[in-house]
Amino acid sequence: MVNKAVFLDRDGTLNDDPGYLNRPEQMILLSGVGQGLQALKRRGFLLVVVSNQSGVGRGLIPPGVLPQIHQRLQDLLAPFEVAIDHFELCFHRPEDDCDCRKPKPKLILDAAQKLGIQLSQSYMIGDKRSDIEAGQAAGCKGSLLVRTGEGRNTEKNGSQSGGAKFVGDSLIEVADWILRQ
Ligand SMILES: [Mg+2]
Ligand SMILES: [Zn+2]
Repeated sequence: MVNKAVFLDRDGTLNDDPGYLNRPEQMILLSGVGQGLQALKRRGFLLVVVSNQSGVGRGLIPPGVLPQIHQRLQDLLAPFEVAIDHFELCFHRPEDDCDCRKPKPKLILDAAQKLGIQLSQSYMIGDKRSDIEAGQAAGCKGSLLVRTGEGRNTEKNGSQSGGAKFVGDSLIEVADWILRQ
């Protein structure tokens, strides 16, 4: 089994980032996300969320509520006839110095192994430097920055977005770029 995927940061990339989102009703899709994911899915990309959720390790997000939050995300995507195929999450705090927190590539590598994903055919999309670096370290074909969430600040600080192969205003713009490759 050989699959290709688009790895997606969650907060600030797919949804509004209120900071330690811990209730399903706080999950609000950003504009263009449903359409962008639908376009990628139709071209055969698996959709994999790779997300640092240190709020769990900090005790700010009950681990049991994450499945509800992610069900809410799936419900919001349903009208676009698309769903996230897999979630790979890190619950650690930065000071835990774990193996999985982005910019480390482990979340991507673990998901790739579980789902039979060929990384050289896959992309990473996010709003922070740590997303771009994780995609590069994992050996993705490209890491792409979106100007939502922290994306504009990441871009402004030029060196921070240095490794991004493309910067788009919205997820649909980034998806369109991928589909032109
Ligand atoms: Mg983010
Ligand atoms: Zn971790």
